[in-house]
Amino acid sequence: MTHPAVPTAATARRRVPARQGSLREHNLALVLRHVLDAAGATAPGAETPPSRADVATATGLTRGAVSALVDLLIGARLVDELPPVVTARAGRPAVPLVPARGTVVGLGAEVNVDYIGVRALDLAGQVLAHRETAGDYRHSDPAAVLALLAGLVGQVRADLPASARVAGMCLALPGLVDRVTGPLRLAPNLGWRDVDVVALLTAHPEVDGLPVRLANEANLAARAEARAGAAGQSFLYVSGEVGIGAAVVLDGEVFAGRHGWSGELGHTVVDQQGPRCTCGARGCLEQYAGKDALLRAAGRDVEEPVEALLAAVAAGDERAARALRSAGEALGVALANFVNLVDVETVVLGGIYAPLAPWLTDAVTAQLRSRVLASAWAQARVGVAAGGPHAAMTGAAVVVLRAVADDPAAWLGAPAGA
Ligand SMILES: [Zn+2]
Repeated sequence: MTHPAVPTAATARRRVPARQGSLREHNLALVLRHVLDAAGATAPGAETPPSRADVATATGLTRGAVSALVDLLIGARLVDELPPVVTARAGRPAVPLVPARGTVVGLGAEVNVDYIGVRALDLAGQVLAHRETAGDYRHSDPAAVLALLAGLVGQVRADLPASARVAGMCLALPGLVDRVTGPLRLAPNLGWRDVDVVALLTAHPEVDGLPVRLANEANLAARAEARAGAAGQSFLYVSGEVGIGAAVVLDGEVFAGRHGWSGELGHTVVDQQGPRCTCGARGCLEQYAGKDALLRAAGRDVEEPVEALLAAVAAGDERAARALRSAGEALGVALANFVNLVDVETVVLGGIYAPLAPWLTDAVTAQLRSRVLASAWAQARVGVAAGGPHAAMTGAAVVVLRAVADDPAAWLGAPAGA
């Protein structure tokens, strides 16, 4: 086994040097993380928000230490108190602690082949603002598209309440990203190669001064899915768009691979004699089950939204139904290859595959059943994404907010306003 001379995305995460931070900063992050995680469990019947005493029990810190740290977090407007709740236990009523709303904000942005967009999420997970523009960005000029995106960033920032402070921005891209600062290596459907996206974006006044990081769109959407919690701990997230990205989630963490390039499901081979792909190879899955391929097979214009295909198939359009069946089969073949390699419990259909799932699931399931060696004992479940539309933008904003949660001390005494 060789050792890389240059830190990669994966090794950089493992080799974070110990900061010269104090114990207090560490404990501040510990307490904030507990309040945020408890709020993340929003399923019906989930526990009520923790009190100071609950945080002390969970973290092993003393009640007095927790109280002092919580006061700092409230002062920094990272945590809020709810009205006291009388519990069955004796003593004073408990004061539930929740993430502050409308204060610290992460911007999640996305450039994809047929839309660009930006959304702002606060620590409580509320979407405070969202802007998107449909367009055709195939073989586009990066500088022109990123100028449009910067315009959307400006609009979203203008839509935020005066109380909001923007912590940074993360941009989801449909291609190979190996470092948070770029460059983007390759996005075949955009026609972008070795583009310094951060430099182009921060040249605009709407973005200037904001920390900007990059990531693969499927990896980010998978984070939103993991946060939604419906798919279990080990799953393959499939992001169907014009291209088909995927992200492997193992034990709750995205497995990005040696360079961060795992999950290029769209370029796995369905038929080596098949049509030429945007990547240059033949017979990639994308040419059978990507959005353009699907719409073409259904006899529709590639610029139509997926809703048009849904309406056609619901109205009994046989050609549309056939296109969906054969796309589902091709997707199922590729997924069976994957599940034979990696033992996951669920395959999650995201992106355009979420609304199309009723017409894809049977074909995908049939392929998994007939091709996965272990299927007689444990059949991988085919699920539908629960992260909501534009999950990559949500996941991107979550990445920014996670950085805030890891270092709340930086927000003590920060001035209000974006
Ligand atoms: Zn390809």
